[in-house]
Order: sequence, then C-alpha cells, then structure tokens
Amino acid sequence: MESFSPDPVALLEREDEGFSSMLQDIASFPRSSKSTPTVTALQTTLRFPITCAGVGLHTGRNITLRIEPAPASTGVVFHRIDIAGTPIPARYDHVVETRLSTVIGSKDDHRNRVATIEHLMAALSGKGIDNARIFLDGPEVPVLDGSSADFLFLLDCAGRVKLEQPRREIEILKPVRVQEGSVFAELLPNARNELSLSMTIDFPARAIGRQSLGITLDEAAFRKEVSFCRTFTNRQEIDALRAAGLALGGSLENAIVVDEEKVLNPTGLRARDEFVRHKLLDAVGDLFLVGAHLRGRFVGHKSGHHLNNMLLRTLMADISAWRELPPASGIASSRQAA
Ligand SMILES: [Zn+2]
Repeated sequence: MESFSPDPVALLEREDEGFSSMLQDIASFPRSSKSTPTVTALQTTLRFPITCAGVGLHTGRNITLRIEPAPASTGVVFHRIDIAGTPIPARYDHVVETRLSTVIGSKDDHRNRVATIEHLMAALSGKGIDNARIFLDGPEVPVLDGSSADFLFLLDCAGRVKLEQPRREIEILKPVRVQEGSVFAELLPNARNELSLSMTIDFPARAIGRQSLGITLDEAAFRKEVSFCRTFTNRQEIDALRAAGLALGGSLENAIVVDEEKVLNPTGLRARDEFVRHKLLDAVGDLFLVGAHLRGRFVGHKSGHHLNNMLLRTLMADISAWRELPPASGIASSRQAA
C-alpha cells in the first residue's frame, strides 16, 4: 500500500463551514466578464484519511475502502492493494467496461481494474473534492446503501482543505451529442458558468415509468436532490444476473427492486422519483471522469454509464468543443501571500 503524508504547508485551511466559504472566495475574486469566465476556486483534498468496509455489489466480497488526501493536480486515483496494481486514474480514457457499472482499469493488466466507482465519484464531485487516493483490497468499491449518502458522510467526516492551485474547469463551447437509437446524451454550452444536468428515463416497469428531473450542480443541490437516491433493478434482472454469477452482493439493503408496479423494499422509496434522481447521480459521477469540473449543460435521455462515457470520449476528441478555463489573476498568489 502506498503511503502518503499530506504536506501541512499545502493544506491551507479547514472548511468546516462547508461550501459557503468557497462561495465567499468565488465572490471575492473579480470576474473579468460574463463571456470570458475564469477559474476562481482553489483545488481541494481531504483533511484526514478515512476508511470503511462493505460488500461489493457484484462479487459479494467484503471490501475495505480507504480514501486519503492527495497533493494538488493528482486528481482521483484508485489503487488495488490486494494485487499491488499500478495506480488507475479515475478518468474517462481509463474506463474499460460500462455494462453494469463504470469500471476503470489499467491497459496493460486486465486484473488491475476497479468496478462500481460511480457513486463514490459522484460524492467526490458533489462535495467538491478534486484530489484523493483511493485504496481497495478488492475489485470493486463497496456498494454501501446503493447511493452516495454513505460516501458523502465519510467525506464530511474526513473534512476538506484547500490547496494552492486553481481548480481545473472545462467549459463546453459547442454541442456534443452521442446517440444509440432513442437513447442519447449531450453536452451544450451554458451561458451561466456552472454545470446543469437534466435527465429523462422511461422504463416499462410501472413502478418507474417516465420521470424527468433537472438540477444545477453545487454541493447543496447534490446533497438535497440526488445523493441519497439508490440504484435500482427489477426482479427478473436479478435472477438473470445471479445465474451469470453477478450481483452476488445485491440485496434490498443496497438497491431498490421493482416488480412491475410494486417496489419490493419494505421501507419503500426515499423520493417519489428516486429512479431518475439516481440516474442523475450516476451522470454526476460519470462526468467527473473528465478529470475537471465541467461548465455546461448535460442532457440525458435514458442514458447510462456507456453513453455517459462515450459522450466524454467524443467531447475530448474534439478540441474545438471545449476549453480549459484560465485561472483568475491572483487566485493562487493571493493565497500564497495570505
Ligand atoms: Zn448508480
């Protein structure tokens, strides 16, 4: 297991007051103009390491997860300590499978992969954590309750600190769209310097049906609107997955299970439209694999991990469709002088 000790000089200040301090920082830096946005926030990492253990959804194995602080511009990096695997960056171009979850892996060692990263990535994005090293002793992230709520709780416990580098932000300059049949996902420019997401789903199971929702992503909205919403499946799908040796850790404790018009979980739903909220949560996690904070509008229609990943690959391949925003003048130097 690689060890890392955070540099106390680089860890600037505690943010127990949460996102409000970041907003104050943003407000205190001048914006040059609406048409030329700049990066006004600093990168962050955890204040303390934090550990938890839980079952993996697909393997059914008990897996220990440890999240550690990391220096500026590390990004989010996964490490498989059980096989001494090389570090795997949590980036769109390291995604090796998207059928049941988002799986990242190294290109030269097919054993060195980590599945079901999306709910943890969503929590890191929602909480505004730019840099972290994540250590696992198995091939997937524990599913916990099937949402991002427990990951968000862990990140809240670990605390957040600012680092001396401006955050990486990518602005969408022109529409990019991927489509397969009636399913599509697109990224569009946003006149506001923020990421908004909207999603529509349409499932034959009457317990789900057609649902739509849109949010503008910030920590408060992530927490309140989507973080607690669980993954879902239908009963017939579980039988098929189990027969294929998958979803061995799946239970009513970590997924909503529907059977036509019925929700089989005894405690019911956490929100009337929990299903579309979870799909938005998945999109938040998948889009964070761009390795930066996006500034644009995401529109998904029945889109899941596969199309979300194709969208990022298509976006990044067209360098006229995006640009990395420049830091506001003085953002890092004013911090260093403080
Ligand atoms: Zn999910």
